[in-house]
Amino acid sequence: MSQPLVITIDGPAGAGKSTLGALLAERLGYLYFDTGVMYRALTLVALRVGLDLAQAEPVEALAQQVEIEVVPPTQADGRQYTVLTDGQDVTWDIRSPEVERGVSLVARYPGVRRELIRQQQQIGQRGHVVMVGRDAGTVVMPDAPLKIYLEASLDERARRRTQEHSGGAAQPLDLVRSAIARRDDLDAHVLRPAADAVLLQNDGLSPEAEVAWIMDYITRHG
Ligand code: C5P
Repeated sequence: MSQPLVITIDGPAGAGKSTLGALLAERLGYLYFDTGVMYRALTLVALRVGLDLAQAEPVEALAQQVEIEVVPPTQADGRQYTVLTDGQDVTWDIRSPEVERGVSLVARYPGVRRELIRQQQQIGQRGHVVMVGRDAGTVVMPDAPLKIYLEASLDERARRRTQEHSGGAAQPLDLVRSAIARRDDLDAHVLRPAADAVLLQNDGLSPEAEVAWIMDYITRHG
């Protein structure tokens, strides 16, 4: 395989998609694009304007109106990119527990998916991109030459999440585990590998080892 212009990475919450995606993009000199950010940004705006997330129509209408941009980092505070909604920096706000709780509900609405997928495809079609999400390989960029589906056990995913959040108040492992299991259920409608995806089970594997494995895979299938 010559260097694929689009690489998709899908898999459940906490499987390590963002870490791997960012590292792989850096190695290839590609844009790292995390599609989950768009669902989170829309959820945040919906909460801020006081919408009831259980009502599909107003949320779907909002998806048409909000301008969501993901641009290179505008501050050196550990962020991988800056997220703007209608020009306002919401990079850290989209990680709040309120957004975390509501995002999977918002992401189930067909009108929301249609609009955000359309925007994601525009970005993907420019090429030189590592696109991370749930349906990047199955729906957003089904013709991507390299599709990766990451898997990891629930325990491993919960452990990683508690370490990620260790900067703030640490949450008990049990709580994190059940929150991830809940999100798996809510995301089950999109969570499946593309027929031609490469499955990568990464319990105990470092992100560097995963990148090395993928680079080797690209060379071997050249
Ligand atoms: O990956 P992240 O945890 O940021 O995604 C947040 C949520 O957005 C997911 O749990 C899922 O409900 C939704 N999502 C989606 N399709 C994507 C990316 C994210 O439905 N491609």
